[in-house]
Amino acid sequence: MTLPKIDNLEIKKVTEDILLVQQIKHPFFFSCCDGLLILTRKGRNNSTISLDLNIEPKYVRLLNKFYGPISDYICSHGHLDHICHVHSWEKLGATIHAPYPESNFLIDLHYFYKGFNWDEGLEYKTVEHFGKLNGYKKCTKVNTFSPGETLKFEDFSIDTISLPGHSKAHIGFLLPKEKVIHISCLGFDKPNPEKEGYGPWYGFRNTSISQYLEDIDKSEEIFLQRARFLTSSHSYIVENPDLSPFEYMRKKIRNNQKKVDKALIRCNCTQASEDSAVKLLLEMDLFFPKSKLKGVVYDIYRFWESWIIRKHIQRSKVFRPL
Ligand SMILES: [Zn+2]
Repeated sequence: MTLPKIDNLEIKKVTEDILLVQQIKHPFFFSCCDGLLILTRKGRNNSTISLDLNIEPKYVRLLNKFYGPISDYICSHGHLDHICHVHSWEKLGATIHAPYPESNFLIDLHYFYKGFNWDEGLEYKTVEHFGKLNGYKKCTKVNTFSPGETLKFEDFSIDTISLPGHSKAHIGFLLPKEKVIHISCLGFDKPNPEKEGYGPWYGFRNTSISQYLEDIDKSEEIFLQRARFLTSSHSYIVENPDLSPFEYMRKKIRNNQKKVDKALIRCNCTQASEDSAVKLLLEMDLFFPKSKLKGVVYDIYRFWESWIIRKHIQRSKVFRPL
């Protein structure tokens, strides 16, 4: 099978009939994620299935020309880089599936606003504007499932894996017969083996670092025991028994903790109220170069960083809250 050449798309074979697709350049910060196309196979699925491939509508239309019709699209969670272009798959006739309750975020951005507790720090119009910058358009109808459920499409089955540290409804996918695990947005985001990414992300109230560490262990075990290939939302294909994705994610979290501990000591606030320590550390641009950002983007990054810092302060061994 020869793969189509489409400008700005990288298409790679994971197996003979499963493709990892990536939009190389993105129109804005959180507008795209890589995903899988499950091509047709006699006796398994008669139409193509798309797994969490959130790319711009023009590329969705091009892929549909090569591989359509697309019967089903499965979304991994409600973050903007996984929901903003899903409407374009629906428009081409795909049935959309997403884990509850983040499934609602595909239908109305107000749910996204409330569901991720943006209302504690930002106005709706800020988040709405950020959604527009990323190309968010809503879907008409979304079928829901619970994280952990097995989904079946004709004779193709997918085990969804609950990985709630990143986001309460966040799931990975295990394709048991094909021996592929897709860990979605867990935090393996190296563009290539030599280059670093940001790593695990936990910038909302309902994220959890301790849960994150459990999710990393859990997906590592499934990869080792049941899969041959590992893919994710922002990286390359890894083959069993290469455990570097898991080591990378754990190391990133460890280093983030060190960064916060050092900053607490440097600014002399190892004994303070949690709120005032967060406030002080936020001025240090520990995680994002906020001094270079402006407007809505600045507001959004500041909001996220406040949670990342808070989560680490709560786990810090050098901090004693007053
Ligand atoms: Zn995410």
